[in-house]
Amino acid sequence: MNGKAFNPFEMAQAQFDKAADFLALDEGTRELLRVPLREYHFSIPVRMDSGKIKVFPGFRVQHNDARGPGKGGIRFHPHETIDTVRALSMWMTWKCSVVDIPLGGSKGGVICDPHNLSAHEQEQICRGWVRQMAKNVGPLSDVPAPDVMTNAQHMLWMLDEFEVIHGQRLPGLITGKPVGMGGSLGRTEATGYGVVYTVREALRELGIRPENTTASVQGFGNVAQYAIRLFQQIGGKVLCVSCWDQADQTSYAYTKPGGIDVDALLGITDRFGGIDKNKARDIGYSVLPGEKWIEQDVDILFPAAIENQITAETAPRMGRNVKIIAEGANGPTTPEADAIIGQRGIFVIPDFLANAGGVTCSYFEQVQSNSNYYWEKDEVLGKLDLKMTAAFIAVSELARKRKIYMRDAAYIIAVSRVAQACKDRGWV
Ligand code: NAD
Repeated sequence: MNGKAFNPFEMAQAQFDKAADFLALDEGTRELLRVPLREYHFSIPVRMDSGKIKVFPGFRVQHNDARGPGKGGIRFHPHETIDTVRALSMWMTWKCSVVDIPLGGSKGGVICDPHNLSAHEQEQICRGWVRQMAKNVGPLSDVPAPDVMTNAQHMLWMLDEFEVIHGQRLPGLITGKPVGMGGSLGRTEATGYGVVYTVREALRELGIRPENTTASVQGFGNVAQYAIRLFQQIGGKVLCVSCWDQADQTSYAYTKPGGIDVDALLGITDRFGGIDKNKARDIGYSVLPGEKWIEQDVDILFPAAIENQITAETAPRMGRNVKIIAEGANGPTTPEADAIIGQRGIFVIPDFLANAGGVTCSYFEQVQSNSNYYWEKDEVLGKLDLKMTAAFIAVSELARKRKIYMRDAAYIIAVSRVAQACKDRGWV
């Protein structure tokens, strides 16, 4: 980035400023929403397996809880920074708001590398995190979840520590729990399916039948796999998927005339979403350089891997027939690429709307845990569809009415709801 360190919090603030200008927010509201309401920085001492004590820095940032308890994951990462956590907490506020669930935005982290920690050491970090934060998180105040390098087991250790401290069963503390221990059915599918619910609505709006459409997907992990499955169920064809190849330290794109077979590819995919390229060749796939995913002659692009993939450099190479970009990944498109996409009149379903199925299902998990009554999978997915569809329609109606870009419309709706909640509470 021109030698200048990329600061995600500054980027989140710049995006907010744009929406605030559009909404002509007053100075006080701007000042409040540009920064987190609360931040906790703490130290987690852990007796390592060697017998030595090691201290791990931990964070929790609560950006805004005017619309309901904070919601957001806890990341374990050796290069975690407070500015990343701040940005992510702000983005959570907008994501919960755009899908209109009664939750605010939070995020947490611990600077550590789970690859170099035993299960016992990881458990001590989880329990230590909760001991530091037990007074400031809870089912009615701030609800954590898994994120980068944390999983259902970590959540269960955290919940157990919280329940020991409080002497009660309080499964609504945390989401992403294992099914059978307070987790929700449908969570695995939720983000990918949610992306496709919004694509289905976009196609309806554009007057295109799904069975006549083709797509290219970047990524073959959790989000991509379920997005592909549902897209194929509604009649679409996926002509290309791309993913990271750990051995070669590069990405490859996999194509097959007539469309990919998701089950066959899953049989040769590792748990990190990496396809075995030699086996793919054996079963008839062409293996191309990874960036070819964007050049395919398809109707829909699903970036569902990592950030900064549709850029000023790659956007001009998009297939000529692309009509929709559905952002399964967080932050796949740079502002420069947005300008190119806007000029071409491509319909963008922005990340914090398109991939909000995950947090919406986490909200459902919390509701189920708080009431100690668990829904069937069909009920979860039916409710998810309703929420995603309503959110999509609200954003696209605003975009059409005001003749603005979908990403801007999503921001405007999200920020205005949070600003209104702050105002209604008498905060500003
Ligand atoms: P995942 O780890 O299951 O899969 C990631 C996939 O991306 C893998 O197939 C990997 O090979 C591929 N990939 C990585 N680098 C690549 C590259 N340079 N080129 C091509 N492919 C590459 O992750 P996931 O859970 O599917 O998440 C994908 C994206 O969606 C992330 O941006 C994540 O933040 C976002 N997201 C996920 C959820 C969720 O519920 N899982 C919710 C909201 C947003």
